[in-house]
Amino acid sequence: MTDLLSLDQSELAELVESLGQPAYRARQLWRQMYQRGVTDPNQMSDLPGEMRRRLSEQVEDSQEPLELQTSADGSTSKALLRLSDDELIETVLIRSRPRDTVCLSSQAGCAMGCVFCATGLQGLRRQLTVGEIMRQAILARSWSRAEGRELSHVVFMGMGEPLANYASVSRAIDRLTDPDGFAMSPRRITVSTVGIPQNIRRLAVDHPRVNLAVSLHAPTQGLRRELVPVDGASVDDILDAVRDHNRETGGRVTFEYVLLRDVNDSRGHARRLAERIRGLRAHVNLIPLNPSPGVVGERPSRRATLGFQQALQESGVPTTIRVEQGRDIAAACGQLRGDRIAISE
Ligand code: SAH
Ligand code: SF4
Repeated sequence: MTDLLSLDQSELAELVESLGQPAYRARQLWRQMYQRGVTDPNQMSDLPGEMRRRLSEQVEDSQEPLELQTSADGSTSKALLRLSDDELIETVLIRSRPRDTVCLSSQAGCAMGCVFCATGLQGLRRQLTVGEIMRQAILARSWSRAEGRELSHVVFMGMGEPLANYASVSRAIDRLTDPDGFAMSPRRITVSTVGIPQNIRRLAVDHPRVNLAVSLHAPTQGLRRELVPVDGASVDDILDAVRDHNRETGGRVTFEYVLLRDVNDSRGHARRLAERIRGLRAHVNLIPLNPSPGVVGERPSRRATLGFQQALQESGVPTTIRVEQGRDIAAACGQLRGDRIAISE
């Protein structure tokens, strides 16, 4: 069985040829999938009946979400998706008018083991294919469209470490920005990474206009190692890569900093952070920890959060505090686990 969404344009052309159809049918197929969001060949009304039938014999068009939850205030929806090998991933749609943002998963599980992250608890289960990433985007866009809006932003902030699955994430970005695909501006796409220096540099070259967010969480190497125990890169190496990204793209980087009570949330930490990132074109986004079962850390006080922001700003670092949505359905950062098997079966 073939997953049509995993084929690139040349592979799709080969498939079309093997069905004895003219080459332009491949482009029609592409547009059906990425512009209209139709992934079932039987529903592709502009293709000849014979082609639809033969395609649908060969193609696996995976199911609707196992489970769909919407937060009490209606702002956030989370889908649990089952992949062909029964792995489970989650996709989140965040409505903050006029924006509709999808938070995409890039891996099932994650190898990095950040101590405060529910996805990290699972370890890495496997990489997602480009098709599995695009299916999430298509699904989220169909919800937006059903509500009379259009998906406007994409963030790679779901399960997994996108720069540890560089090939598939890069191909997904190509499709999201392809004029015959999602036709989105790269400015509306953000890749959030724990900080893999060589792939930060690759991203700067391959996708210079895509926004980069780097999850730093600590101003010092010792603290970073406590919070992100598996990742091999040092804070210095990450900051060097960010400097190169600044230079290569001319853009600005966002540092994400999850605040954990009494661990990394003092004004002293803020001042040290400001020193470390001085000279970079950067802004800091503070994320008060979402405690979830089984993971380490407590939520910082409001006072500490505001104090941290103030100390950074006094040091000249533009700083925002993340507005969180969807905590009641465990759809906020760090709460995605993809392990609801008991409930869904
Ligand atoms: N692996 C990537 C992207 C997925 S995580 C990364 O780490 O950047 C997206 C963001 O959620 C990261 O900034 C991560 O640090 C944050 N996050 C993870 N667990 C969290 C939690 N429990 N509370 C708040 N933010 C969390
Ligand atoms: Fe992986 Fe990101 Fe979670 Fe760390 S925070 S374990 S890198 S998904």
